[in-house]
Amino acid sequence: MRVLVVEDTRALAEQLQAALITAGFAVDLAPDGEEGRFLGETEPYDAVVLDLGLPKLDGLSVLRAWRGGGRAMPVLILTARDGWAEKVDGLNAGADDYLAKPFAMAELIARVNALIRRAHGHATPEILAGRLRIDTARKQVALDGAPVRLTAMEYNLLACLAQHLGQPVSKTALTESLYAQDFDRDSNTLEVIVGRLRRKLGEGLIETIRGQGYRLAGAP
Ligand code: CA
Repeated sequence: MRVLVVEDTRALAEQLQAALITAGFAVDLAPDGEEGRFLGETEPYDAVVLDLGLPKLDGLSVLRAWRGGGRAMPVLILTARDGWAEKVDGLNAGADDYLAKPFAMAELIARVNALIRRAHGHATPEILAGRLRIDTARKQVALDGAPVRLTAMEYNLLACLAQHLGQPVSKTALTESLYAQDFDRDSNTLEVIVGRLRRKLGEGLIETIRGQGYRLAGAP
């Protein structure tokens, strides 16, 4: 899962980045509205955290540009405390949720997770795929009821496949979901992670679809 953070206050941006990485996300940072708009228009994100008060281009204009251009990723806006008018404007411009500064990082992470879950049509944090149960809130996986220990990368890849249960996900989409923009991407790494997941979960769960990528079997 890959998240864009558009925030000009450097200390807060770095705090957000650290908290999101700890929660298992790949994170790109944009320090102003112009770069944020550009990244949101050109890169695939599972969610965006967007500050409204930004240099070069304000957050509301960034959001309107994205929505006007058909970009539908979930967006959580950061507003000033007591800025109810900002919240209303933000929601009207296409924001999916908001948090007023200052906020607790744990609440931000929980809201980002909920936005991503709902964007994929899952009302609850639990995804069932055959013998597999994935708790996306706690990031825990069980096979036939027994917990399976996964690394962060393994979990993220599995969660990305689970969000598209029964459909193939391309290697490009998986790689883009797993790594931040400035990360040195290597598609072999993807195959290594899939290999480790197959050893832990059994060979049949993750199918290779020739020319299309991977698919998590077990759709009801
Ligand atoms: Ca700001």
